[in-house]
Amino acid sequence: MYSIAIDGPAGAGKSTIAKNIAKELGFIYIDTGAMYRAIALFLIRNNIPSDDEKKISEAVKKVNIEIEYVKGVQQVILNGENISELIRTNEVSKMASISSVYPDVRLKLVDIQRCLAEKVNVVMDGRDIGTYVLPEATLKIYLTASVEERAKRRYNEYVNIGVSANLENIKKEIEERDFRDMNRDFAPLKKAEDAVVVDSSFMNIEDVKDYVINKFDLVK
Ligand code: C5P
Repeated sequence: MYSIAIDGPAGAGKSTIAKNIAKELGFIYIDTGAMYRAIALFLIRNNIPSDDEKKISEAVKKVNIEIEYVKGVQQVILNGENISELIRTNEVSKMASISSVYPDVRLKLVDIQRCLAEKVNVVMDGRDIGTYVLPEATLKIYLTASVEERAKRRYNEYVNIGVSANLENIKKEIEERDFRDMNRDFAPLKKAEDAVVVDSSFMNIEDVKDYVINKFDLVK
């Protein structure tokens, strides 16, 4: 099986790029962030505090997460309920970022992610895919961009859907999430030694996609 791992900080465009590559190559796109978000939603709904590791470990045992595809779009099913539309809020982003530091949360999801990649060709995006989830991935990409550029892109996404947003706040939130992801003990965000770094600050989606597909053609 082929696997392309795409890791990098928040807002670098991982999911857009990963989706495009998967489409072009006929691979399955796996958004691992959505799984952390699903657990975060469960914790929020059950009023479990983000600093209570013991309660979170207990809660994780009660969570069943399944991934399905509707017309090629990933759906996340949390205990039988399709929650894909409910996990894109700021509250869920923050809870996902905080709760994903706990090993019990990560181990549960890593299991699901590895099982998926065993059966089909995948493009998987996240923070620890090349370093921890799929260390033998066919190709590893570390996709990054300046924090200013990443914040600007997020800001524009909000404005385009008519949601008011504050650029400075977005930048601060992105920096906080990156700091937590890069400094946790268990499977932190870092470039895998054999990953190709792509800085998309001055590249458009098409350029990044073509660059990654060319790299893949060379190593597959
Ligand atoms: O990528 P996305 O923003 O949806 O991820 C939500 C959060 O889940 C991230 O801020 C990160 O803390 C966590 N995450 C992770 N490992 C992954 C994917 C996401 O820790 N592989």
